Amino acid sequence: MTTSRYLADYVLTCNADFSLLKNAALDVADGRISWVGERSEAPPHEGSTIQLGGLLMPGLVNSHAHTPMTLVRGAGDGLPLMDWLTKVMWPREGQMTSEDALWGMRLGAAEMLLSGVTSTCEMYLFEEALVEASQDVGIRLVMTPGIISALHGDSFGATDNRIAAIADFHAQHHDPDTLVTVGFGPHSAYDLPLELCSEVASAARDLDALLHIHVCETQDEGAALEAQHGGESTIEILAQHGILDGKVLAAHSVWLNETDMEIYAQKRVRVAHCPVSNMKLASGTAAIQAMRAKGIDVGLGTDGPASNDDLDLWQEIKISPLLARVTELDASSMTPQDALTMATVEGSRAIGNDDSGTLQIGAKADFVRLELDNPTFVPVTNDDELIAHVAWSGSGRHVTDVWVQGTQVVANRRLTNFDLERAIAESQTRGLRLAEDSGT
Ligand SMILES: [Zn+2]
Repeated sequence: MTTSRYLADYVLTCNADFSLLKNAALDVADGRISWVGERSEAPPHEGSTIQLGGLLMPGLVNSHAHTPMTLVRGAGDGLPLMDWLTKVMWPREGQMTSEDALWGMRLGAAEMLLSGVTSTCEMYLFEEALVEASQDVGIRLVMTPGIISALHGDSFGATDNRIAAIADFHAQHHDPDTLVTVGFGPHSAYDLPLELCSEVASAARDLDALLHIHVCETQDEGAALEAQHGGESTIEILAQHGILDGKVLAAHSVWLNETDMEIYAQKRVRVAHCPVSNMKLASGTAAIQAMRAKGIDVGLGTDGPASNDDLDLWQEIKISPLLARVTELDASSMTPQDALTMATVEGSRAIGNDDSGTLQIGAKADFVRLELDNPTFVPVTNDDELIAHVAWSGSGRHVTDVWVQGTQVVANRRLTNFDLERAIAESQTRGLRLAEDSGT
């Protein structure tokens, strides 16, 4: 089998012992990593050899996003979550067409790839458009079609027959050998009836599919539900209704107590931690250190680009340890390795992709090259310092090249197969129309 051999100054594997290889070679065959190690030990191979220099690492994994919200980026700034959703976001999104979602997703997927994000887990409507857009741009997609209802009714997100429609969509598009896998995206237990959430969870389990749901994002959102259930916590209520059984990705999970975290650990619930969104909307600080100490997988997410306002996951890599440290007043509470692990292999597991997010033999070849010839990466006097530079100073501007499943999608900071200028122009026109038509 022919392989492509990439030579780099460093390979940061993000494997279990977090090895940093120097003067390294990375072989890719048929979309997967066939060998990785020190160049001097590389086996003979047939195929091309590409001298890259720089540092190779796994592509970043955005574990929670609503990417077509690029079209409403920046709107409603300064409002608390419920007002922000009901007075600005949902009125604008209510005007959105499938064609709008297609362009919003194309723009966001381009933004992600250019900053080194190679996988995204999306909760949104217009799932067919999101699949088409992700394939156009070349990003790996976990599509969890949204189910959303009570708070804003009408045409945006009617729930009738939605479970059957998503099961059909799963049958059509879910294929772990390609770039697309499919789950279910019920918005939350404060938006949807519990019985419906239970039905969705059961349908997801039947297909061994991911259930992706917002949980305890803000302090008060669960008050009505908890009052109806004799003061039990939202997590206890979800568990009693079978909603946490199966492969569950709980976005946010900010307002959890010790018992709630025990339930997560026991049910093997995964968490999408979105520190920038949680800070921007003043939602709170998730206790991810405590969760990870219990063995819970925690990925990093941007959340929708309207609550962030960008899709560059490097900010989450920096801010998640900053937030943990300042909350606990403990500079040792989260390491650069922890942050990079969450952004890659742990996040990948959290969204159901167990064979990507790390540079080791057999893994899917989703990787990025960072330019090290840059002021913020100097000096390096030992390996840990280089890893620290990547976590604390890394950003999308250091990413020069990106591969997804072995295919190069960004070369020398440009998308190889996509017209970014057109996506920017389309998104500007469409975003303006949504604002005007909704009167917001
Ligand atoms: Zn969200």
